Amino acid sequence: MVEYSGFDGKFVVRQEPCRICGSAEGIKIAETEFWDLQHCNIVQCDSCKLIQLDPMITGQNTAIGCHAYYLKEIIETPVREQRRNLLRNYRRGIVFARSLRKKGYHPETILEFGPGSGYFSAGIQFIFPGCRITVVDIVDEVLKMNQEIHGFTVFSGGPEDIHLFKDRKFDLIVARDILEHVTDIGIVILNIAALLNPHGLFHFITPNGKEDVWGHYLNWEFRKKPSELLINHVNYFEGAGLLKCLTGSGFSKVEYYTYQVKYALRGKGWKRKEKLVVPVSTKQSADDLIRLHEKNPGAQSFHKDKILDVFIFRTKIVLLINLYCRYKHHWLIHLDPRRNIGHEIHGLFMKK
Ligand SMILES: [Zn+2]
Repeated sequence: MVEYSGFDGKFVVRQEPCRICGSAEGIKIAETEFWDLQHCNIVQCDSCKLIQLDPMITGQNTAIGCHAYYLKEIIETPVREQRRNLLRNYRRGIVFARSLRKKGYHPETILEFGPGSGYFSAGIQFIFPGCRITVVDIVDEVLKMNQEIHGFTVFSGGPEDIHLFKDRKFDLIVARDILEHVTDIGIVILNIAALLNPHGLFHFITPNGKEDVWGHYLNWEFRKKPSELLINHVNYFEGAGLLKCLTGSGFSKVEYYTYQVKYALRGKGWKRKEKLVVPVSTKQSADDLIRLHEKNPGAQSFHKDKILDVFIFRTKIVLLINLYCRYKHHWLIHLDPRRNIGHEIHGLFMKK
């Protein structure tokens, strides 16, 4: 096992304690600005190695910034590419659900945090047609789309808002690309455990924090100016620390690996190269962007029958569909996340 060396930086007293271990100190590795909304340090905890924004982005700024980012993505991604992404997520949902079925799991109640287009959960439903899906998000357009297109039950909120569900429990909770966004990761993981039935499953993907924060770190090292942060990645996970947090919060590991090494090969996470640096903050105005594009029709053309109207799904041959999806989305290389190499961390954990 390669020992995690952490980042270079100044030892600082934090403005807010570490959200996993409560430590009041850390190493400041960068400064960043979330739109024109908030200036933060990026600090690595000296004991548990979690890298977080300090202070954390406030709830109000998160809501504004996320809305702006959502609109920005729609504006900047060509419709063709958006449609391709939906199909991709649908196939990934199929591959994931099929792997659950092969392991003998048959979830009936599913909760997804931050569902995006909803097509990942729709893919799960292809394999488990009887399952009931509930989704939670803070962006109203996302909820509307999930309700109208997929018929999912929707709630406005985030993984911190456990009160939304009262006594309801789930067999499977999905949080893909969500953990890096949550304010209080320690509480969120405990909440997820509390929302699961006994032996319920928790599936997530989240970026490898070392690679994800690398450009911000280099920008600070090279320029000593705050970097631009448009998507609210507020947590940057170290593989061993995240595993410890999960196993210490009532979960046992089913699958835990990183995949996609092309960025690591290009130097993300270890090479000090100008081309890996993220831009300096220009304090882009989130409000201006929202005001300009509020009336964007967004995802109107993403109805399921149109999106899934491609040859492979038209065949309706389940075996063929399964094979094709697996061929498209199977990662050959699985690495131990504790090495902190690879683009993303994939996790499947069971409530003990
Ligand atoms: Zn800590």
